[in-house]
Order: sequence, then C-alpha cells, then structure tokens
Amino acid sequence: MRVAMIGSGYVGLVSGACFADFGHHVVCVDKDPGKIERLNAGIMPIYEPGLEQLVSSNARAGRLSFTTSLDEGIAGAEAIFIAVGTPSRRGDGHADLSYVHAAASEIAKALDGYAVIVTKSTVPVGTGDEVERIMAEANPEAQFAVVSNPEFLREGAAIGDFKRPDRIVVGTEDDRARAVMAELYRPLFLNQSPILFVGRRTAELIKYAANAFLATKITFINEIADLCEAAGANVQDVARGIGLDNRIGSKFLHAGPGYGGSCFPKDTLALVKTAQDLGAPIRIVETVAAVNSQRKRAMARKVIAAAGGNVRGKRIAVLGLTFKPNTDDMRDSPAIDIIQALQDGGATIHAYDPEGHEQAALVLNHVDYANDPYHALEGADAAVLVTEWDVFRALDMDRVKALLTAPVLIDLRNVYDPAEMARRGIRYSSIGR
Ligand code: NAD
Repeated sequence: MRVAMIGSGYVGLVSGACFADFGHHVVCVDKDPGKIERLNAGIMPIYEPGLEQLVSSNARAGRLSFTTSLDEGIAGAEAIFIAVGTPSRRGDGHADLSYVHAAASEIAKALDGYAVIVTKSTVPVGTGDEVERIMAEANPEAQFAVVSNPEFLREGAAIGDFKRPDRIVVGTEDDRARAVMAELYRPLFLNQSPILFVGRRTAELIKYAANAFLATKITFINEIADLCEAAGANVQDVARGIGLDNRIGSKFLHAGPGYGGSCFPKDTLALVKTAQDLGAPIRIVETVAAVNSQRKRAMARKVIAAAGGNVRGKRIAVLGLTFKPNTDDMRDSPAIDIIQALQDGGATIHAYDPEGHEQAALVLNHVDYANDPYHALEGADAAVLVTEWDVFRALDMDRVKALLTAPVLIDLRNVYDPAEMARRGIRYSSIGR
C-alpha cells in the first residue's frame, strides 16, 4: 500500500518507518527542511532506540523516503496520515489545532484521487468533523474519508509499542475507509493485536481518556507518597500491595516528581477544556492537572530542604533532564521547573543527561553540562536524581560521596535503598519512604 505521513516527528517518523517495515511504501513529509535534509542523510532528528537502523534499512530497500513537498508526498497515496503537533494553545490550555487544520487544507488542495485521511495526532473530539469541513471547503472536488486512528506509542519504547500494540483504535463510520485501514494494519493481525473499530468521535475520546486515566494513576500514587512521608509508611510497598490486585494493576504506580512529557500535561488540559465546553466537566482530571503542576515546584522545595534549607551560592548536581529515560524529549520535563526553582533560590546547576543536553539548552539558561555523571557531581553541594536513566542506577557511591562537598542525595525516582544509603553515610531522601 502507498502511505503518506504528514509530520515526521516522534509519531510520524516512527509510524512511517514501522509501516515501511511491514512492507508498505511510505513517504514522510515535513515542512522543516533541516529535518528532511538530515533524514535523507541518514541522521535521526530525535533520539529513539532502534530508529536509525529501522529507517536506514527501509530507506535502502526503497520503501521509505522523505520530502518537504506535500504534493509529491501524497501523490498516489491510499492513506494519508496527519501526524503534526497539537501543543497547548497559549493562554487557555485548549489543543492548538492550527497545524492539523493547515495540513488538512494543504492535503485537500493537492489530492488527485480518493484517499483515506487518517488523523494520528491527538485531537479533541469533533476534530474529524472539522477536518472534513476544511477539506471540502478547500477542494469541493476532493474524494476522501476522514478517519481517527490515535497513537498510543511511548517514547523510548516507540518501535516495540507500534509493532506490538495493546490495541489499535480506528474511528470511522465509512465502510470503504474501514477496509483501507484493515488492509494497512493487516501485518499486525499476525501478532493478534486487537483492532477496535468504533465511531470517529469515540476514537478521538479514547485517546484522551487513556492519557487522563494514566495521569490520574500517577498523581494518585504521588499523593499517597506524600501521605506515606507524613505517616511513616513506604509508598513502594503500598504500590506493590495495591498493584498486585488485578483490578488495579502495577503499572503507573511509581511515585516521582510529577508527570511531564509531550503528552500528559497538554492532553489533560485539553480534555478539561473540551469537557467544560461541552457542559460535562471532568473534575477529577481538573484536580489531577492542578496537583501535578504544583508538585514540580514542591520537588524543588524538597531539594532545598535536604540541602540545609537554603541553596543560595550552592552548586547542585542534577542527574537526568529529559522527562523520562531513553528519549531526548524535554517537553514539559519536571527537570525544567525544578532547575528553574533552584536557580531562583540562588543555586548554580551542573547537569548530566545521556541524550538531553541539546534539547535542554533550548529551554534552560545558565546550566553547565557535564560529560558524565561523576563530572556533574564534582564539587557539588548536593545531588538530585531527576530521571532514572540506566547509567544512574548503579553509581559508585564511594566515588559520589568523595566528589560531593556534602554527602546529600535527593532521589526523586526511588532508585536507591534508603537503608543502604544510610549505611554508606549518605544523607539520602527519596519519595514516600
Ligand atoms: P513533533 O513536534 O515531534 O512532530 C510534528 C512534526 O510535524 C514536526 O516535525 C513539524 O515540523 C511537522 N509539521 C507541522 N505541520 C506540518 C505540515 N503542515 N506539513 C508537514 N509537516 C508539518 O510531534 P509528535 O511528538 O510526533 O506528536 C505528533 C502528534 O502525536 C501530537 O498530536 C501528539 O499529541 C501525538 N502523540 C505523540 C506521542 C509522543 O510520544 N510524542 C504519542 C502519541 C501521540
């Protein structure tokens, strides 16, 4: 099948490369010429494990190509995916749909035969109707159907998630479009991945409901962690104790510095706005979003308390910057709020992240970047572990202690054992233990 992917970011590039690997012919389009130039030279614009190899092998096989020209990219395509960004709109938290609307209009003008237009971007309920209207207005002759096919992949494990999804959700009321989508995803039937055909509005809502539920689960355990600290209980044992209940499940019960990333913060806010507009407010998600945004600054206060109540003139080592391991994505990473609050308190920051320095430098000022974790710790008055990259999981604690001016470690991911840290003479604090 011939497939076009409009938008070649985390989702468009991974989905495009995986569809090509299934045997489809995929053209990835992006309006960023630098991105396309790099992709054509075999250089990945993002860090995602396994992606470079997947892209290069499919490009070599002639099934995957890259262009800035939407006209060229969609020529002859039976399925045209919209995988552009839907960030938070400045000011009100609604999803900014301007990229989706622009892509719809450009596709309509360039369309030369029937195609299925597939919205893969995360978009509020009713966006499919709007895309349909924009396309019909831009080109009244265009023949198409608009389908919703939200994406559930996780950065850092994106290829595995795309190829072995828990489920595929396809929202359409159109039989011809449904047949095209079934053919497109046929390679996944071999793995017996469940495919759910639902109404278009339902599909759009499933994506937000899933993200809001996961964000709620994280926020729930974070508040239980605060209660554990006040009550002298251990949140990891509580999480295990409730997670073994099959009705609850153990995933997304790791207490930490609050959720961040390119999806949960913006998607919870957008769901809140949509629900309010439709007169069906979801108060639980309103609370989750508010609790989570307060939590990030609270983490900075925790660091300041552990460092003796004041960080003015102190040097703080920050281990991990990206919103989670195995990605270079800094969007809404908790590290941003924590570092800015520490800087506001007068601290200087020496940070190390295995992949995040380039993206971090775009959003943070006055941070010194280290070559490795130990370099970051040298001469620091305290260390904070913000993102649980593997490289931070087995640090040489004697070395850590020798490098720091005071043996203070704040572990926001509960990587280390408090008793072991006490034995080694480290003044250690973590979350909910
Ligand atoms: P991204 O910012 O990494 O990529 C979007 C790309 O689209 C950019 O490269 C941009 O240049 C390009 N673009 C914008 N308008 C264009 C146009 N008119 N023509 C061609 N290219 C255009 O975004 P992303 O993280 O891949 O997210 C895309 C969508 O997928 C969002 O709605 C997001 O919520 C959703 N999503 C993301 C993830 C994730 O983990 N990142 C997971 C599931 C769903």
